[in-house]
Formats: sequence, C-alpha cells, structure tokens
Amino acid sequence: MADLGKDSLDPQQAEDWQELRAQGQRMLSDMFDYLEHLRERPVWQPIPQEVREGFHEAMPDKPGDLAQVHQTFMQDILPYAVGNAHPGFMGWVHGGGTAVGMLAEMLAAGLNANLGGRDQIPIAVERQVLEWVRDLFGFPETASGLFVTGTSMANLIGLLVARTAALGTRVRQEGLAASKLTAYTSAGAHGCIAQAMNVSGIGSDALRLIPMNENYQMDVAALETAISEDRRQGFQPFFIVGVAGSVDVGAIDDLAAISRIAKREGLWFHVDGAYGALAMLAPELAPRLEGLALADSIAFDFHKWAQVPYDAGFIVVRDGTLQQSTFTSPAAYLRRETSGMAAGSPWPCDLGPDLSRGFRALKTWFTIKVYGAEKMGQVIAKTCALAQYLKQCVENEPLLELLAPVSLNIVCFRYRSIDADRVNAAIVIALQESGIAAPSTTLLDGRLAIRAAIVNHRTEACDIDALVRATLDFGKVA
Ligand SMILES: *Cc1c(COP(=O)(O)O)cnc(C)c1O
Repeated sequence: MADLGKDSLDPQQAEDWQELRAQGQRMLSDMFDYLEHLRERPVWQPIPQEVREGFHEAMPDKPGDLAQVHQTFMQDILPYAVGNAHPGFMGWVHGGGTAVGMLAEMLAAGLNANLGGRDQIPIAVERQVLEWVRDLFGFPETASGLFVTGTSMANLIGLLVARTAALGTRVRQEGLAASKLTAYTSAGAHGCIAQAMNVSGIGSDALRLIPMNENYQMDVAALETAISEDRRQGFQPFFIVGVAGSVDVGAIDDLAAISRIAKREGLWFHVDGAYGALAMLAPELAPRLEGLALADSIAFDFHKWAQVPYDAGFIVVRDGTLQQSTFTSPAAYLRRETSGMAAGSPWPCDLGPDLSRGFRALKTWFTIKVYGAEKMGQVIAKTCALAQYLKQCVENEPLLELLAPVSLNIVCFRYRSIDADRVNAAIVIALQESGIAAPSTTLLDGRLAIRAAIVNHRTEACDIDALVRATLDFGKVA
C-alpha cells in the first residue's frame, strides 16, 4: 500500500528530471536546426520501403528510451513529411508554420489545457482572438466564434447554424424530416462544402453548383435563376456559400453581390474564406473582399496564410445566440455555476460539436502578438506579388502557357506540348521527386494544369526561378 500513487509517468528523482530536461533541450535544438536550414534540404523525397516498414511494429510493452525514439523521429519521420515548411513547397494550400508557432504549441502541450469549457484564462485567449477576428472582418460584438480543426469543420458548423436559422431549433430533435432545403455555391468551391451537406444529412444532391464566369467567380445571375427555379419547384433555399480564394485558381466571388441576393431572398450568406479571408490583413488586398463584412458566417484557417502550425481553423458567426442554440445541450456533468471552476458560461462546447478541445488559440495568439497584423499582411501580399512574378515568367517563356487569371497567390500554367496532360503530370511528379519545388496539379476546363499556390512566408523569387527552370528541364525530357 505504501507505494500506491508513486508510479506516475513523471521522472522520479531530481536527476531524472535533469536528464529529461537535457534531452528536451536537444530535441528543441534539433528542431531549430531543421527550421534554420530548411533550404538545404529537398522539399520532399520518396519514402524508402524500409522506412514504411518501420511503422508496423507490435505495440511496445516495455519502456523505451526517449533519446532513441527521438532518433527514430529524426531519421524516419522528419525527412519524410510532405515538406510544407520548405520555401519550395507550392502544392495545394499549405501554410509554412513558424518557430514561434512551434514554441507556443509546446507551451500549450505542457499546460495541457482542455478548452471545452470551465473558468480559465486559456478560454479568454481564444475569445481575445475572436475579438481580433471580429474587428478584422467588421463583425459586431455579438458575433461568436470558435477554433476548430480546419475550414472543412468550420464550413460544416456554418451550415448547421444556417439550418437552425431556416428550420428553428426543433430541427435538433426532429431532424430534417421532409424538409426540402437547398444550398448554393460556386462550381469552383472546395469539396468540403458538398461533404458538409452530406454530413449534415441534407445531402449533397441539395447543393447547387453555380457555374463560374471567365474569372472563375460564381455567376451571380445564374445564382438568382437557380434560386427562383428551386422555389418554383417547391424547394426551400436556405444557404449560399461565397468563396473568397477558390482552391483551384484563388478567385474571389463577388461577395457584395451575393450578399444582396442572400438578403433579398432571406438566405444565410456564408463565406468559405479558408485562406482568402485573411487577405483582410493586407491593405492592398482588403478592398477585393468587399462584402465580407456582410456575411452571416465566415470559415477560415489560421494554418494557411497566417502560418500558424496545423491545425487552426476558425468559424465566426454574426448572430452568436444562433450558434449557441444550434449546439448547446444540458448535461448534469456539464452543469454551470456563477463562481468556481464551472463558471464562465457559455463555454466553447456550447458553440460546436466538440467537447474536449486543445489550446489552438495559444499558437495563434503568439503568432499575432509576436509578428503583428502588419507584418502578417505583408507576408500575404508578398505571396501574391510572387504569384505575379511567376505569371510574368510564364508569359515570357514561349514553352509555357498560363491557364487561368492570377487573382491572388495561385498560378495555373503548363508546359506546351501536343501531349500536354501526360507531359505536365509527369513534370509535376518529376519536380516533386527532385526535391527542387513541389507544385500540385488541377484540372481547368478538362486540361491538366501545374498549380503553384504560394502560401509559405519563406518562399522567395529564387524559389520561383528554380520552379520555372526545373519545369523547362523536365518538360524537355517528359
Ligand atoms: C483549404 C481549403 C478548405 C479546407 O480547409 P481545411 O482547413 O483543409 O479543412 C476549404 N476551402 C478552401 C477554399 C480551401 O482552400
């Protein structure tokens, strides 16, 4: 009995703590080395079979040595990540992360705060970020908001709040029954909108994908037609998603026009601003987002353009009470008090489906406090300037052609060839395997494009030059 409770996972003696501390400092130092010398590494490299095989071992019964496990991390995990910290990474839309974000993430893990609820300053940090978000987007003080994994989850929450607005809170008990809700978004919208329709039970068949104009923006006349056609057929239009920074080409819908239609028709106006919404931080780009302040809800990520380490998505809802009435549930074990630890209601768990939640707010708060909004805006503007530089390089090179207008930070282009789809797919794989630069691909009007999304704060003109040079080299032999 005497030893009961002595067997924790912490070091037992002062010298054991000392050893752990020294090992921790080595781990931190290795990560600084990684970040300081990123440029000397390949962006990505093919994964050897024996490395993959190392991750099928039986669950260890006995303790392992921390230094050795860390060694495995350095040898078999770190070199085979996707490489979005690297300045040459231009695939999909991935943020680069920062050392400050890494350090804050470590502090958050040490504190091990659970932000589901209760009276604690970590929740005040999350609400502080919400206040900044409200100011940035021109939302009222009554707006509510929540950190979530990413924009996919944020879009789902926006959709669920809009569903409450359309059908009342009884929908939470009754379900959708015979409702005939329909939703609208651009044909260029991210697939997570259809997924949200699926997960919500409304079904992706009820999502109308509105065609785009030549600038890849939602055709607002077609939107109006689709809504009135649905009304004629007895459907109940309830939700429009405008896109601020489309995933293929970085187009921004005419948010002001969509907002007018939503208002006139009595529909919820949600913006998927996964990366684009934070263009509000750059004074030269902010005017492009006119109408954003009129949205009923906005979903976006701090882990893309704001460079906060994964994951850090956010949803902000103009009518905070409506967000709360969509999710809050009474439970004896979540009873609220006016003082003591169970004070501070409403809690974050009243605003979304998650109960236990990590301290995503801390790395975001650190990032904004340390770099400041101005600098973050400059980084965003720089990625757009680099995209214009790449566009110029493509236009100056007879062997390359531009496939879409460059609205923000995404450039879609390809190597000219009679067999262009095959050749360009091969070029992208060769680029990725070379470790020089890592764009991804997309299809535009059925044509395969090399798609470079410049999101990383570390990317410079020399990385664009390397991409163009390697594209030409690989194009010749593809
Ligand atoms: C990245 C992205 C998403 C998905 O966001 P996650 O954070 O990956 O869930 C949705 N929409 C757009 C426009 C995006 O760029």
